[in-house]
Amino acid sequence: MPGPDHAYTLNPEALRAALERRRRDHLYRRRRVVEGPQGVEPTVDGRRVLAFCSNDYLGLASHPQVIAAWQRGAAEYGVGSAASHLISGHSRAHYMLEEELADWLGRPRALLYSTGYMANLGVLSALLGPGDTVVEDRLDHASLIDAGRLSGAQIRRYAHADVAAARGQLARAREGRVLLATDGVFSMDGDLAPLVELAAACRHERAWLMVDDAHGLGVLGPEGRGTVALQRLGMAQVPVLMGTLGKALGTFGAFVAGDEILIETLIQCSRSYIYTTALPPASAQATRASLGLAREENWRRAHLQSLLARYRSGLRELGLPLADSATPIQPLVLADAQRVLHCSAGLWERGILVPAIRPPSVPRGQARLRVTLSALHQEHQVDRLLEALGEICAPV
Ligand SMILES: *Cc1c(COP(=O)(O)O)cnc(C)c1O
Repeated sequence: MPGPDHAYTLNPEALRAALERRRRDHLYRRRRVVEGPQGVEPTVDGRRVLAFCSNDYLGLASHPQVIAAWQRGAAEYGVGSAASHLISGHSRAHYMLEEELADWLGRPRALLYSTGYMANLGVLSALLGPGDTVVEDRLDHASLIDAGRLSGAQIRRYAHADVAAARGQLARAREGRVLLATDGVFSMDGDLAPLVELAAACRHERAWLMVDDAHGLGVLGPEGRGTVALQRLGMAQVPVLMGTLGKALGTFGAFVAGDEILIETLIQCSRSYIYTTALPPASAQATRASLGLAREENWRRAHLQSLLARYRSGLRELGLPLADSATPIQPLVLADAQRVLHCSAGLWERGILVPAIRPPSVPRGQARLRVTLSALHQEHQVDRLLEALGEICAPV
């Protein structure tokens, strides 16, 4: 979207000025370099730190069985898939993973995409076009917002988790197809979409409901089947379920699960599915291994819940603001970008990595530390974070 920088004509001086402004506003971002495997004590910029920032909620990204499956997959299939799914890139490994994802979620079919971002682009632009409407929560993930734009449909957004507002937007869409798209677990807030009520509103307005459950799958519900299963809904209420493989499942890629007609429509019409190289088969093999662990090892979810309770009660004792979140995403909203940077830097000095999340990833005035917990954390590590937060971020 054209921002204030748009007034400059495109030249290096204008770009430099825009970067400078970013720096001045405490919005400049830089990347840290990680050595070695993912885990709760990675080596970052040459220092071993205690990290509360990854989306590897179940601790599967470096699991020996998952690594071994990837290695065997590379030996069996080679490294690249060498073509798109519709040409010659659709391996037995992809096929089996799709079957297993469908079985996990109790849906007839699943379709792999190379990333979650591409899955969202591909779904909305296959199902909607000019004259149609997509209704979205204000805090939907950027990929869903971009997907709405790319589709050419009219985008109608509603205040976060506000079912009455969503109903109003649905009712305003008079003609064409209507789809409501929402995150299952909101990525920067950790709260759940009110899916039961949204599903009722969609049924009433004859709209489709799509849930992006990137942060719920693996973590919530029986066998980690996510936000939809947790709220006891199924395909009748949520015909389009999108999930990613790079978060709780610890690998890479994404998928859509639904009925036969939906999946065949996506295979035929979804441009970000058709015109891209299939993800590496070895990655699919690794995901098959991590999916098995995610389904079976309930202790990972149980341990996460107990860490969560410990963290939240500690935060309450410190008088720091508690997020309305029962998921491993526990944002500490401190409002002002400068204060958030100060806290993040203070934690870093104590060997703790918690990223500062600033606009435009979150709305202005809602800058935060985004703390995420993993099943690999131990209680004493959570206590260490709490102690540091108490020293650095305690209310003034
Ligand atoms: C991470 C994420 C995506 C994008 O998935 P990638 O596989 O990383 O491209 C989409 N939606 C939500 C809600 C996410 O958190």
